[in-house]
Amino acid sequence: MTQTETISLEDQIKQLALEEGAALIGICSAESIKDKEFSDPNFLLPGAKSVISIAINFDDEKVSKYLSKEEYLPLCHEEGYTTKNLKRVAEKIKIFLVEKGFEAHNCDCNYDYRNVNRASKVVVSSIRTLVDLINKNMNRNIDLTTQEVKTLNRLKKLILPGLRKTPMHLIPSLSHRCVAVAAGIGRIGWSGNLLTEKYGARVLLNSIITDADLIPDKPLKNNPCTKCKLCEKACQGGLFSRDEEQTIKIAGIEETIAKRNSYAYCIAVCSGMSGQNKFKEWSTWSPFRFDGIENLPLDNSVDDYVKNMFAEGIKKGGQQAENVLRLVANTFLGRNNKPAEDFRPSCGFCQMVCSGNDLNKTKENYNLIVNSGCIE
Ligand code: SF4
Ligand code: SF4
Repeated sequence: MTQTETISLEDQIKQLALEEGAALIGICSAESIKDKEFSDPNFLLPGAKSVISIAINFDDEKVSKYLSKEEYLPLCHEEGYTTKNLKRVAEKIKIFLVEKGFEAHNCDCNYDYRNVNRASKVVVSSIRTLVDLINKNMNRNIDLTTQEVKTLNRLKKLILPGLRKTPMHLIPSLSHRCVAVAAGIGRIGWSGNLLTEKYGARVLLNSIITDADLIPDKPLKNNPCTKCKLCEKACQGGLFSRDEEQTIKIAGIEETIAKRNSYAYCIAVCSGMSGQNKFKEWSTWSPFRFDGIENLPLDNSVDDYVKNMFAEGIKKGGQQAENVLRLVANTFLGRNNKPAEDFRPSCGFCQMVCSGNDLNKTKENYNLIVNSGCIE
């Protein structure tokens, strides 16, 4: 009998993942998370029986320098390379399972939604053309050709109303957070982010779905969230409440988290369209202050308001238009295949502030944010 034959299939998968660079790994049954549309693994792999969750943590020093606005690029690159690493580790696990005779699917780490038609890549190139023509038209030294004027007017009529109809609530092909909770990697914190015992919320996730019937791990007994709510105080957007709560259930576990507002509150800030909303003493990494952000509505009309902000951003051209284009490109094309150097977060503070059960560390992280001033 060879050595690998004495080790269980589950342990072989875990050993492989850790050897390849995963920081955390766990397994859950597909059955335990299939009750919700956004976490049913059968959408990506019909006949799924198990899902493997892997996580890689961010480097603490790079995060600190990002929060204190000392250095921007190291964390951008870290996010890009970590995403690629997660895809690579997941691919190794997938190949391992396929060689054993099972089906397996290596998921995308981010920006993979059920209600976004990825075949519509043409949307991105059309917006690129529109933005280029708007920028050219604003240049007093250049006259557009007749054909370019026609294209500009046609694209404006097509794209701007389309942007105003884009759904704000996107449904992921698979919620990696649900998988991670069910697989014992972490629990959901007040912010809605996944919190691990060792790294707090400072991890990125990926999942591998398989028809192998693996023995699942047990979910974490204790939630590392201290309910310090510094995540809410670090959020310029206003995605979640400080006082009101809601209960969600994942794999039989009840999580009490902040009541969530429309995603529009995050998208308006996290897209880089504005570096400020709620707090004026500090900003995110975005130097922009979008016209009208002061008047972000506090009711359901916020979705239309933010979509209109995006349409106006395109019409303005320049950097505002580039921000909208980047958001649309990420949403339609994903980020997994982008060069790692092109990852450009502008916020993510609700995640990066949180060191989980280490409250003192979370307080230190929060102080870095609020004492870091504004990017102008
Ligand atoms: S910062 Fe982290 S530990 Fe504190 S409430 Fe938010 S999620 Fe919980
Ligand atoms: S990414 Fe930024 S804007 Fe979005 S919810 Fe987190 S802290 Fe708020």
